[in-house]
Amino acid sequence: MTDRKPNLQGRLALVTGASRGIGYFLAKELAAAGAHVIAVARTVGGLEELDDEIRAAGGDATLVPLDLTDMAGIDRIGAAIHERWGKLDVLVANAGILGVIAPLGHVEAKVFDKVMAINVTGTWRLIRTVDPLLRASDAGRAIVLSSGAAHSARAFWGPYAASKAAVEAMARSWADETKNMALRVNAVNPGATRTAMRALAMPGEDPATLPHPSEVAARILPLASPDLTETGLIFDVKQDRFTRYQMPA
Ligand code: NDP
Repeated sequence: MTDRKPNLQGRLALVTGASRGIGYFLAKELAAAGAHVIAVARTVGGLEELDDEIRAAGGDATLVPLDLTDMAGIDRIGAAIHERWGKLDVLVANAGILGVIAPLGHVEAKVFDKVMAINVTGTWRLIRTVDPLLRASDAGRAIVLSSGAAHSARAFWGPYAASKAAVEAMARSWADETKNMALRVNAVNPGATRTAMRALAMPGEDPATLPHPSEVAARILPLASPDLTETGLIFDVKQDRFTRYQMPA
């Protein structure tokens, strides 16, 4: 792909789901590479801990406590970035929920709706609000967190799998819309990672057998590089390469 540790000095990055897990460590990586990080999540304690760590390492962050079901709130992020910076260099659309592991016929309507609201509608609303800001950057980079579940569609993972398939399709459409511009849009399959979400999905699993989110974040970081050329692809962290999930023509 490109250099492992890109120089992001002077660049602006927005990370959702930055209060813990993969988003937390990706926010740290981006800040360590020189970016000013706008960190979004609901849990203020997690955001403050991130802020402390970033500042202790000499970096800089802006905290945005927000529930991503608040669509008007998402719109306000775009307006605020426009007013203060006029552009955005990196978007990491990472926040997501699992919902429930259950047969589709047993899923409660409110749980299904919440998975779609946060994972799909929230991601689309975020894309809509930052699209002009990323286009205004000389090298806009969008990184959208997907999952192997989007393709494996295993029994009992229905709502989550459907939401990730939707997110990936959006990322690919967006990449196609912008392929002749400087903006590069890619999805990421981080693979099983030692986080709260994974523990909820697989309670019997020993977390020590899984990669730490800091390792996964370090592998995703190069997708934020201004030197990146790929767009419309899925970066598979485990395989450490881009893949293209497409029906044969
Ligand atoms: P975690 O559960 O550890 O973290 C999820 C993050 O999303 C938290 O920061 C949480 O913040 C935020 N979030 C959840 N709901 C909302 C909301 N309503 N509003 C704002 N923020 C919200 O998950 P992971 O780090 O494991 O997952 C990160 C991404 O990676 C997800 O998109 C997930 O689907 C994907 N992924 C993870 C895998 C894994 O094995 N861990 C495997 C494949 C994909 P807060 O609660 O503070 O709001």
